[in-house]
Amino acid sequence: MSVATESAETFASLNPATGEVVAEHPVQDGAAVAAAIERAREAAEWWRALGWKERRLRLLNVKGSLARNLNRMAELIHQETGKPVQDAQLETIMAITHLDWAARNAQKVLGPRSVYPGLMAVNQKCVLEYQPLGVVGVIGPWNYPIFTPMGSIGYALAAGNAVVFKPSEFTPGVGVFLAELFDAVIPEHPVLQTVTGLGATGAALASSPHVDKIAFTGSARTAKRVMAACAENLTPIVAECGGKDACIVDSDADLDAAADAALWGAMSNAGQTCIGVERIYVVDEAYDKFLGKLTEKAKDLRPGFDREAAYGPITMPSQLDIIERHIKDALDKGGKAVVGGAESVRKPYVEPVVLTNVPDDSSAVCEETFGPTITVHRVKDLDEAVDKANRTSYGLAGTIFSGDKSRALDVARRMRSGMTSINAFAAFAQVAALPFGGVGESGFGRIHGADGLREFTRPKAITRQRFATMNLTTFARTEKEMARVLGLINMIHGRRYKR
Ligand code: NAD
Repeated sequence: MSVATESAETFASLNPATGEVVAEHPVQDGAAVAAAIERAREAAEWWRALGWKERRLRLLNVKGSLARNLNRMAELIHQETGKPVQDAQLETIMAITHLDWAARNAQKVLGPRSVYPGLMAVNQKCVLEYQPLGVVGVIGPWNYPIFTPMGSIGYALAAGNAVVFKPSEFTPGVGVFLAELFDAVIPEHPVLQTVTGLGATGAALASSPHVDKIAFTGSARTAKRVMAACAENLTPIVAECGGKDACIVDSDADLDAAADAALWGAMSNAGQTCIGVERIYVVDEAYDKFLGKLTEKAKDLRPGFDREAAYGPITMPSQLDIIERHIKDALDKGGKAVVGGAESVRKPYVEPVVLTNVPDDSSAVCEETFGPTITVHRVKDLDEAVDKANRTSYGLAGTIFSGDKSRALDVARRMRSGMTSINAFAAFAQVAALPFGGVGESGFGRIHGADGLREFTRPKAITRQRFATMNLTTFARTEKEMARVLGLINMIHGRRYKR
């Protein structure tokens, strides 16, 4: 069984809409985490020795099992996060797509390949390969409890590592169920183990000297603590943190499509999305029309826990105070609520809030709100939009809507973020081949794609001398040989390059 249960102490995961207990889970202490890491070490050796083809087969079978259990997983996500069942299904589909891509592409991306040695080492056969690290600790958030951790779990396993997963204390059941699915398909060794508990359980994982890398997803504040713990053992870390993403709307954009996407980006999952739209910058000519369309659509949205609800409750109760504070601060500083207002916070739900005229220094513009609220800003042109979009310590993702392909691409490049989506919201997240990650306080390192696979490996360089040539790294080298090489180098590299 890959879910350690030694602890006597337990905690409850609650349905945030009803307050009902979904399940009780053990609080894993340092000893339980250490035991899981030890089991993982053994599993990692077995898993690594299995080789590419056998690992691929097993991971594809786990994917198959997850696909067949999609509704059970989605129901659990629905219960633990409160998000609509269909959103939970969509999230699980995305996790399946990523596991599939990682399993199918690991050998191609990481397997041994020959590298051209260059003239100076022409007698060497060069091999580059990417070897697994060993045991990877994955610490996950609650807002996308299967999609987000799978970006690390699936890629780390496909690269040949074993994983110890600490899910968020708000969504432990999702992690436990995922480990059960792995156990059933891969009974030989626990290549994925889930350890449940609060922050201290995550801290035990991060501070272990026997973990080879930590993949952390969560707030920038916790990431700093995790990094400090990792520093003690020089454990490398990939950090996927929060964001304050912007959507830019050009004067010639399709405004219906832009309003639809911006609204989904801001309000779906009750705004609890790391790559969610939190600020919209609209070029002057399009501003009034766009705002009209956005507010019209926003008014129709209703939070709830029933099948017709657009989005669910705020999963983490403490976030409600932050959302309330941001709305209040925006209004106090002269902002205008064109949809909803301070009264929209009806715990555990928050009704849609659209704010305009909010000053750039207000917390609703500067800090991650993580609620179904949005600030809309009028800008004179795209340059001002990019400038304001980039005025944040975060830099996770972004969106640009424009009728002009090359202008959109130029803006996408200039937005300070790891990912930008043109004329759609967050399309990159569904493309398993693309890397996912941020800059600044949004974190560093990448999950997903070839970069995401390499993140959980170390490059290994091997050379094999095929025949002897002139040897310059010997005490027996001659003046004549050195002179010949110097002449050659001058001929090859010493010339002047012309345009
Ligand atoms: P959080 O930082 O509160 O917790 C994240 C995880 O860290 C949890 O499992 C928690 O138990 C654990 N933890 C807490 N203290 C710890 C410690 N001292 N040592 C080790 N682990 C510890 O974040 P959250 O509220 O669960 O998630 C929301 C945040 O995650 C938001 O900021 C959101 O933007 C971000 N997020 C980012 C991405 C991304 O891919 N960049 C994806 C989803 C969520």
